[in-house]
Amino acid sequence: QVIYLNGEYVTKENAKVSVYDHGFLYGDGIFEGIRVYNGNIFKCKEHLDRLYDSAKSIMLDIPLSYEEMEQALAETIRRNEFRDGYIRLVVSRGPGNLGLDPKRCPSAWVIIIVEQLAIYPPEAYRDGLVSVSVSQRRNIPDALNPKIKSLNYLNNILVKIQANLAGVGEAIMLNAQGYVAEGSSDNIFIIKKGIVYTPPCYIGALEGITRGAIIELCDKLGYKLKEEPFTLHDVFIADEVFFTGTAAEVIAVREVDGRTIGTGKAGPITTHLLEEFRKIVEVDGYK
Ligand code: PLP
Repeated sequence: QVIYLNGEYVTKENAKVSVYDHGFLYGDGIFEGIRVYNGNIFKCKEHLDRLYDSAKSIMLDIPLSYEEMEQALAETIRRNEFRDGYIRLVVSRGPGNLGLDPKRCPSAWVIIIVEQLAIYPPEAYRDGLVSVSVSQRRNIPDALNPKIKSLNYLNNILVKIQANLAGVGEAIMLNAQGYVAEGSSDNIFIIKKGIVYTPPCYIGALEGITRGAIIELCDKLGYKLKEEPFTLHDVFIADEVFFTGTAAEVIAVREVDGRTIGTGKAGPITTHLLEEFRKIVEVDGYK
């Protein structure tokens, strides 16, 4: 396995960062999780746009141009002879003296790791996941904006811990007002009477690339979609519920907080969207 580490290609054993790296010390940095299907980077532009937007927002100078970043991604995939899997792209503030001030870090560090992906087993896509809501609240744009995919993932990690304690794969996080926001690392959708709903990102959610792909797909397939705030009550009484994410793709939820969702397995619209999504990623991963 070859890892891109700040301009060099190194082995996994030699891929090391300084203990003075502000990404490590303070969570000062940003990242992307990207999928490679059939040797193609899925929604490369969307991921890089989100990365460069996050960087701009936190005043982080990415030392590579957009084109250089694309080349570095392609070259890392090539060197790993990689056809399908997951890319973790990290840009940290880089090493600097102790102290929060980013001015202490002369240059950001770029790291690209490609990995095989440990996703849910195939039956989970047919049977659906069991999920729970958790007490952890999503930060909203007046705090750290959820649109910034920053290295500060403690909020989401606390959700994951609550999911683990409940013995479920993904949990549902509300915002401070009690509206459903998203999962620990997935966006959420519900379906009621044939209409697909997802929370608007201002509720407190990352603008997921898979979320965007599903919104486009709903349009293409003629499903009515509304970006509208909703509560746990709406989730409990939905006909179908599913999560979307780069790693999870489109995964149905069959139970939330002990309430069976719909018929208790992946519903017809969720299954249709997953099938069409898989067709897209196989044929035109680049788009
Ligand atoms: N929400 C959060 C907090 C995430 O970390 C992720 C994963 O990146 C998502 C949603 C899903 O976004 P995407 O579809 O871009 O992977």
